[in-house]
Amino acid sequence: MATMPHAINTTAATADGDAGFVCVCCGKERRAGLPVVRSAGDARPFELHRCDSCGVVQQFPRWAAPKITALYDQGYYVFAEREEHRWARAVQQYVIHLASFEATPAFQDAHRATGAAHHRQGLRLLDIGCARGHLAALARQRGWRVTGLDLSADAISEAAVRFGLDVRAGSLASHAGTLMPFDVILLGDVIEHVPDPVRFLQDVRKVLMPGGTLCIDTPNWGGFWRRWGGSGWLGLNRFHINLFDAESLGGLLTRCGFTGVHLAAYTHYRYQGWIARPEVRRWISWLPGFLGWRIGRFLEKRGGGRAWSHLVANPPVDLDAAVQRVQSLAANPIVGMQSPTRGDNLIARASR
Ligand SMILES: [Zn+2]
Repeated sequence: MATMPHAINTTAATADGDAGFVCVCCGKERRAGLPVVRSAGDARPFELHRCDSCGVVQQFPRWAAPKITALYDQGYYVFAEREEHRWARAVQQYVIHLASFEATPAFQDAHRATGAAHHRQGLRLLDIGCARGHLAALARQRGWRVTGLDLSADAISEAAVRFGLDVRAGSLASHAGTLMPFDVILLGDVIEHVPDPVRFLQDVRKVLMPGGTLCIDTPNWGGFWRRWGGSGWLGLNRFHINLFDAESLGGLLTRCGFTGVHLAAYTHYRYQGWIARPEVRRWISWLPGFLGWRIGRFLEKRGGGRAWSHLVANPPVDLDAAVQRVQSLAANPIVGMQSPTRGDNLIARASR
């Protein structure tokens, strides 16, 4: 999850009736009056409404698929991130979601094999929304058999050429028939972008091995900064057409047939300290110069968690550095984990 310029107002208005609203996740037709988030002064205005039944916050009215697709043609912000940020984010997501599998007997058995056999026997990972392949390349180096999938043909082509990965461009639905079942499927910063989350998760379940694990990472509507940051919360932008809290994501996974759902949260490595928060920076910018500077200094020294500060201060610059960083973090795979009402990134684990 990254920031992008946006202009969104959180209004206290009650939605004017439920006319035409059908929840994309549960099919019910009642939306809650609050909150309504409305873009302001945007060439492509949109609104977010909360389903009164399942709690999923969603774009309404939902744009047609071509209009959503066109957004990504205009320079999707994630693809503009600097190289070291991509590696740092890959390290963080690997440690949060995948590192703990390295201790499982299945993974260890594969690791005991050597050479070519090693790559035939590792746990199978599908990275959906793999972008330019940084996390997929890192996982392969750690011993996974990785397949990557992304809607962006440009990103996939770069991942294939640069890392030699097994990557495919297009939707999951378009490839589902040719994919072997996977031990683990990762949806990192994906489900908030998907027009039909129910159908998508049903497709995901079809390519997950019985007993396999689904890992989800998505902006946390139930988190502290969403509740206190108002319209400045960094999870709000027009690409995020579905937003979940622990209850609504857990409910959706259960309805889609997943079991053993476990939910937690953490915060993106770049936004842990208070002074790094765009929501806080905005408040400080309203203060007179010296006062703002003093408060900024105070928050810098006192505020917020520091579990991932090494990734800010010293981000890995290439694949080898990222692999080394994971190695040094492997002893502490749940670093920075928070309750689902705190962190900015909601994470879920569920089984087929
Ligand atoms: Zn609903």
